[in-house]
Amino acid sequence: DKLHVDPESIGEASVDFGLIVREIPVAVLRPSHPEDIAILVAFAYNKFPIPFTISARGCGHSVRGQAMARDGVVVDMTSLGNKTTVSWSQSLGHYADVGGQQLWIDVLEETLKHGVAPVSWTDYLYLTVGGTLSNAGISGGTFRYGPQISNVYEMDVITGTGHFLTCSPHENPELFHSVLGGLGQFGIITRARIALGPAPKRAKWVKMLYSDFSAFTTDQERLISRHRRDQDEVLDYVEGQLFMRRNSDSWISFFSSLDHPRLMSLVTEHELLYCIEVAKFYDECTQSAVDKDLEKILKDLSHGPEFLYQKDVGYVDFLNRVRVGEMVLREQGLWNVPHPWLNLFVPKSRIADFNTGVFKNIVLKKNMTTELVLIYPMNNDKWDDRMSAVIPDEDVFYAVGFLHSSGFEDWQEFDLQNKEVLHFCEDNGIKQYLPNYSTESDWIQHFGPKWRKFEENKAQFDPKMLLSPGQNIFNHNQGMNSKIDGV
Ligand code: FAD
Repeated sequence: DKLHVDPESIGEASVDFGLIVREIPVAVLRPSHPEDIAILVAFAYNKFPIPFTISARGCGHSVRGQAMARDGVVVDMTSLGNKTTVSWSQSLGHYADVGGQQLWIDVLEETLKHGVAPVSWTDYLYLTVGGTLSNAGISGGTFRYGPQISNVYEMDVITGTGHFLTCSPHENPELFHSVLGGLGQFGIITRARIALGPAPKRAKWVKMLYSDFSAFTTDQERLISRHRRDQDEVLDYVEGQLFMRRNSDSWISFFSSLDHPRLMSLVTEHELLYCIEVAKFYDECTQSAVDKDLEKILKDLSHGPEFLYQKDVGYVDFLNRVRVGEMVLREQGLWNVPHPWLNLFVPKSRIADFNTGVFKNIVLKKNMTTELVLIYPMNNDKWDDRMSAVIPDEDVFYAVGFLHSSGFEDWQEFDLQNKEVLHFCEDNGIKQYLPNYSTESDWIQHFGPKWRKFEENKAQFDPKMLLSPGQNIFNHNQGMNSKIDGV
């Protein structure tokens, strides 16, 4: 009774946020307990004459079918329900044990009841813990706190053989490191022990505008060079965006309507503006010092003083800011549309060329991009190289995200632009985040020196290649042919 084959269940599991790919499973499992998943995987592994594939699905916020399983079984993780337990220990301080199926927004709400909160976030909180830990989980706090995968102490994982294992840096470390950033290839995360810190109450939220790219990146890099967790004069969040006239709907709402005419004429004059977005959190204890601290941190940056805009918002409102945009888009019927996204990690040494080669020579010239373009740096030393996630081999690298929305008829045009961008990226040490490749050689190139280990781990933890076939890493023959043009 937990396996569903009705058209509605199958239909839901066949699409994702991208609305570009469709893969039809034979059934959807709605587990009540993690044991239900272990039984399914063990059955596929041991008993079934021909193994079938199995994909954990968080919310299906992937954009290229990564949580799908053609002719296999999709596990609807969210049916496991909510479970967050907050604890404290001498060695870890506060931590939370959370289900892999849980949304980060629910983890936040539960932990706040104890005056604590996770330290590392994504920009959007309606993503599952298992889904983001399978990638990395990044946002403006990554420069200081590391990605979400750097803030996990322990996990329970069901491997591709149906075994239920607890893993940590000390217990089954190979499994622990391979699952984090492992694109769902080695096991299904049913519990994660997450690092927590004291929950702030409010955020000073500041945006600064630049017309000069070099000044923009110099200042961003300077801001993230102060990244000690225990320091006062450090920001909690540093991101950045590309402002163009054409994508003004994606950035203008932050600013007061009185500023809109000035901003529009600025962006018309310069064609491209670069915006540094920062936040500093505070509570009752730090309230009296926060303005001074912020002033010190932002002192001597190269934007003109008239190009700084500031807000003071509640901590939860800050963390949950993307939800507001989602609601507006939903109302306009613009949320459930194709999302031909492209996310990249660009090494610091290539970012100036990237500005010329991509922002100016592709994005600006094509004049198609109407959505958010993110660009922000992070520090390599906040990542753990033993994990499966792949990042550039430089001390500082940039996350660049083209978060396109399109119509059902024209998403291919955005994909053509993406291809041009990827062509520019070839041989530049640039990596895809939330990667999407269709051939084994592309994956081998993506993982670089980590490929051998990745393959060995697959052979150990999922030898029959049952898990997360929608990533198309080990299941090429099954995946790509059935992908159809738009859903
Ligand atoms: P799904 O899309 O359902 O799954 C993703 C992959 O993980 C699949 O391969 C799936 O099989 C596997 N998986 C899912 N659950 C588990 C589990 N429990 N155990 C093992 N494998 C599992 N990412 C960021 O890093 N930072 C951001 O700021 C950010 N913002 C976003 C904003 C929006 C609006 C959207 C749509 C996405 C954003 N993402 C961001 C991307 C997001 O991290 C990915 O979509 C990710 O896959 C999480 O989505 P999900 O939980 O729905 O996972």
